[in-house]
This record gives sequence, C-alpha cells and structure tokens, in this order.
Amino acid sequence: MMIRIEDIIEKVEGNRPDPDTELIRRAYLFSALHHRGQKRASGEPYLVHPLEVANILADMRLDEVSVSTGLLHDVVEDTLVDLDTIRSYFGDEITLLVDGLTKIAHISNLSKEKQQAENVRKMVLAMITDVRVVLIKLADRLHNMRTMQFLKPEKRARIAQETLDIYAPIAHRLGMGKMRSELEDLSFQNIYPEEYKKLSKEVDARRPELEAILERIKSMISSKLAENDVPVVAIEGRVKRLYSLWKKLKKQKIAIEQVYDLIATRIITPNDRKYCYLTLSVVHDIWTPVPERFKDWIAIPRDNLYQSLHTSVIGDGGQPFEVQIRTEEMHQIAEEGVAAHWKYKEKKLGASDEDETLDELRKTVEKLLLPLVETTEVNEDSEDFIESLKLDLYPKDVYAFTPMGKVIQLPKGATPLDFAYAIHSEVGDTCTGAKINGRIVQLRTEIQNGDVIEILTTPNSKPSRDWLNFVVTSKARNRIRHWISEQQRSDSIELGRKLLEKEAERFRVSSKKLLNNEVELKKIANDYGLSRAEDLLASIGYGKTLPRNVLSKFLGAEKFAELDPDKRNQTRLETGIKAVRKFIGLGEDAIIVKGVDNLLTTRARCCNPLRGEDIVGYISLGKGIVVHSKKCKNVRQLMINKDRIVEVDWAKNDKDEIQSVAIMVTTENRTGMLAGITNAIAEIKTGIRDARANVSRDDTGIIEVTVEVYDKKHLDRVISSIEKVPGVIAVERQNA
Ligand code: MN
Repeated sequence: MMIRIEDIIEKVEGNRPDPDTELIRRAYLFSALHHRGQKRASGEPYLVHPLEVANILADMRLDEVSVSTGLLHDVVEDTLVDLDTIRSYFGDEITLLVDGLTKIAHISNLSKEKQQAENVRKMVLAMITDVRVVLIKLADRLHNMRTMQFLKPEKRARIAQETLDIYAPIAHRLGMGKMRSELEDLSFQNIYPEEYKKLSKEVDARRPELEAILERIKSMISSKLAENDVPVVAIEGRVKRLYSLWKKLKKQKIAIEQVYDLIATRIITPNDRKYCYLTLSVVHDIWTPVPERFKDWIAIPRDNLYQSLHTSVIGDGGQPFEVQIRTEEMHQIAEEGVAAHWKYKEKKLGASDEDETLDELRKTVEKLLLPLVETTEVNEDSEDFIESLKLDLYPKDVYAFTPMGKVIQLPKGATPLDFAYAIHSEVGDTCTGAKINGRIVQLRTEIQNGDVIEILTTPNSKPSRDWLNFVVTSKARNRIRHWISEQQRSDSIELGRKLLEKEAERFRVSSKKLLNNEVELKKIANDYGLSRAEDLLASIGYGKTLPRNVLSKFLGAEKFAELDPDKRNQTRLETGIKAVRKFIGLGEDAIIVKGVDNLLTTRARCCNPLRGEDIVGYISLGKGIVVHSKKCKNVRQLMINKDRIVEVDWAKNDKDEIQSVAIMVTTENRTGMLAGITNAIAEIKTGIRDARANVSRDDTGIIEVTVEVYDKKHLDRVISSIEKVPGVIAVERQNA
C-alpha cells in the first residue's frame, strides 16, 4: 500500500518542533504532478519511490527541507522540470540539494564507468556543501535496493556492487551503522544470490537454538544487573548479519562454529558512561572474558564518532559471544551516525547553543569527508577519482591496479611482489621487476593506494630467498618458502653428489661405481636413519654427513685405511685442495659459486668476499658452502676442519649482480666532504645505498658510505676515485 503523505508529515511533526509542513505538502503535490503517469519497474506508480524516500528521511528525523527534497529528488532527472523551475517554487536551499542529487546529463561519448565516476564526484562535492545531500542519496539508494526484485539480475548485481563499493562505505564513514548494515546485506543478496541463500539457510537452521541461548543470556544479564543495582535501559540480542558473517567466514576460512561474534548482545545503559563500566564489570563477573577481545571505544571513540564497549566472553555452554555496552545516546549515534546529530537550520531556532551544535556537526562532517574533498581537488581525471574514492573509504588496505584496471586489494605495506603473487603464483615466481605508474621500481617498494602496477617477468626466472624480507602477504610468503625448500633440496642433492664424487676420486675409487650402486648407497643411507640414496646425497650437500664417512662405510674399515689419501700424503692442504681442483667443477677445477648468495652457497658475513677476490669454500652444517675470502682471518681456523674445506671459484657474472660494500673514509674536518665523496662515487656511475658523516674525537671526519659494485675491480676504482677527493686522508673497506 502506498504510504500517505499525512503519515510522513505526522512523523516530522513528532520529531521536530514546529516544522514547515506546508513546504512538505507543496513538494508532494509538485512531485505527484510531474511524475504523473510514470511507473516503476514493479508496475506501481512512480510516486511511490519519492514518497518512500521521504518516509525514510522522516524516520531519520531529518528536517522538512530534507523530507521535501526527498519528494523532489527525481523530478529534474526524470521529468521535464528544470532547476530554475524548482528554484522559483522552492528557493535556493532545496534547489542546491536537488542539483546535488541529479545525475549529470547523459554524455554519449563518455564510457559507463566515466559517467558513474562523474556522478559520484558531483555528489561528493555537493555533500561537502550540505551533508543532507548524502543522507537523501543514501535514503534513495536504500529504497531502490529494497525494491530491486523487479530488475534483471545483471542490473541488480551492478547496482548492488556500486552500493557495496561506494554507498555502504560512505554510510559507515558517517557512522550510520543501521543504514550500512541494510545496504550491505541487500547488496550481498543481489550480488551473490546463491551464497546468500546457502548462508541464510545455514543460519536459519541454527536460529532457534541461538535465540534460545540469547534469551538465557539476556535474562541472566538482567537479573545480575538488578541484583547489583545497575540501571539498564534495554538488553538486545542478535545473530550476526549475513554479509559480515560471510565476509568473516571467507576471510578467516573458518566454520560458522568458530565465529566469535555469531551471536551478540547489546546492553543499553542510561546516559552516563559510568553505567557502561559498571555493566561491564557485572558481565565479566558472570562469564569469563576473552582478554584480547576487549575494546574500549568509549575512552577512544572511532573516528566516525562510534562509542561502545566491546567484550567477548565464554558463555555457559562454552559458546563465545560478544557483548556491546553503550549509553542510549551512544547507541543512537551508532545506529544513525551524523543523522543523529542533525539539528534544525539556524533560522528555525531561537537558541544560540543550537548554532554551536550545528557548527560542530559541520566540522565533524567535514573531518569525515575531508579525504574525499582532497581527492576531488587533486585528481582531474574522473576515473582516477572514483578509484581513489573507493580507496579512501577503506584505509586499512591498499588498492592497486593492473594496467588493465583490475583492482587488487592488498594489506598496507605490500610490495609489487605481493601484487605479483596475488595475480598468480606463476607471475610471482618469474617476477624480475616492476613498474609503478610507468616507472621501474625496486621490488621492495611499498605500494601506495591507487598505484598502477605492471609486473615484469622473465620465463624460467626463479624466486629469491631475499624476497622473504619484504613480502607481507601469506600467499607470497608461503609460495616463496615452498620454492626455497624444494630448490634447496635439489641443490643439496646436486652438491652432495659432487662432494661424494670428489671424495671417491681422492680415494682412487671409481665415482661411477660408487654413485651407481643404488643398493649400497641406500644401505648406507639407512645406517644414517635415512630412507633413500637421494636423502643421503642431500644430507652430504647440507653438510650434515661427511663424504669421507660415507666412503669409509662403502669401503669397509680395512680398505678405507689402506686407500686413505691422508695417510699417503703429508699435508692435507697439498692433497685436499689439489684433489678438489682436479675432480670437481664444471670444466674448471673448482666448484663454481653461481651468482651471489645462492641457496647453497652463501657469502661469509665475516669477510663478505667480493667477486674477483680469491676465495675458499667451507662446507657448513645445514648451510651448504660458505664462501670466504682467502685473506679472511677465520679461514686459517676453519682449515683445521680440513674435511670441510673445498676449493671454489666465481662463476661469470652474467646477471650483472651487484653487491653492497661498506667503505670508511677518514677526512679532514671541513664542510662539503660528504658531498665531494658522493659526487666522486656518482661520477663513475656507482650506486650509493647509504652515506653518513660523523666527526671523530681527534677532529677528523668519518664518512661511511655503502656502495653497490660488481666486483673487486669496480671497488678498486671506487676507492681510488674517493682517494682523489681533496681532504680525504684514508679510504678503507669494512668487513674485509
Ligand atoms: Mn530516486
């Protein structure tokens, strides 16, 4: 049945002192006249829509100007009436509001997305001037969402998606909890009808049980509050809303039973926050609270003005549930947000304190909408605008875009690698670079809201262990870890095979004979508690099992002693390193250190050897081969463990790998030293990662620079370049 205008007027009269009801009646007649003959998709007269919108606004206790605008909001858009006519009948105030609510005229050369963007931009600009624009727009959208069943499914999904992207977040931003909830649930229902049905069936099946529990909880709270003389206004119980339940189930991948706030109770206290805390202590006295779930939004209100205490407790049956405690006033704000603050226009009020309230409200709204205002000023392009509008509404996440415009939602701090893995594991694994907004960036660059990210991939390229230091999503992290452990295993088998081969040759045993003897290798593996020959090789590669011991088992004690090269020769260094040189290495006579910091060859931290320097390898337990500079003071000590020393050599630097090296420069204490040195480094096209200047006690300058070099020769050039800078006393490499 169509709602009657008199009912709406009655509501406004009930909510507001002395409203201009004549204005509402005139707006109604005007709207009825001009929408005459128009029908909605349902077949009803079009007038139903503006009437229902006006009714929602009256329920929000808005003023007669808002309610009248609700009646007129579609007149300019959908009839022949223009804004000037509205102005001549209703004045500037309503005209401004109606204009803010009227979509821009259809421009045929604009894409659908651009049109939508322009419309939202227009609305946001209008609501900065008068927040009633957005309240009316929300009421309009709410009624349309409630009556969507007559539209085609595709259209429903599209409108619902827009609601979810733009209007529900705006409602949330303005603290309008009730509006937001209804918009979200209706959107959910229309975008994912199947999942909505499934979930609501699931919840409905449990509803009687849940409601019985809620009843028991409520009466328990009520009697305990009475026992303790704590006053209460109302106790409400509810089952979690479907959309937020669905989101939680999806996000946390949990079953419905594990949802903490599937049921919740709300205790409304009289208007003094002390009752909230009193009530809280009573609740915590009845049930055990879950400590990390207590939140005091009263002491620290959310920025949309929401205030409440939240606590989760373990109920009698072990069923956890949430309790929200707030005063009547806080409750009204939680449900209605800025609409609850809405007061009369100044001219209607004699009291000046009302002006202050209005001013305060305006400030609040401005604060809430400020990010949107800024966005509208910065961005010229309308599509950019709608994207950044969406972004500003969800500040916890960053939204980035593929070059094709697909939105990828990531947690704050995410990098292009997270983005790459979010697109596809394969894209992540083969990622070798990224462009943000067209510019090449480092993979560790933090993504900002609205960045357009292009991932550069190279086929057959592999993840790097280093990536773990800066990815933040679990998808990327897990995938990289998985890759590393697989790669590490195959590398270690490979390395173990080489080391065992080498040892066999040293004993003048045919390495083929040994390595092809699967049965014997398996037996030895079993001796070490391993099941397969491959595991034995991996264990050798990891440095857990020494090839010498494996050989001893293979040959038997007697033969082993007989063939032991260490017994035949005087020094280990002579034979060891020579034998290694002879037997391993790919065409060379040493194991080739492939690239830098491979999975099973790592650079020793103590000496940080530079490509081009003389190096030696040490098989360390679980880390594979650690490469030291031959000059490193630790090497002599490591030599004692001669079984673990291997000869290594640098592979060709075909990937242009760079390495950071710290340099300490001692200078005269005068100004401009740091600039002079960094200039000298930059002049020979060398990257600087870090540079800092200090003055030492003896009044010399100490400058520490970290440079990025390809090899030893490169570093030597850097050092001699720094030495030429006037005022430089000494240049010294750190960590060598
Ligand atoms: Mn409308």
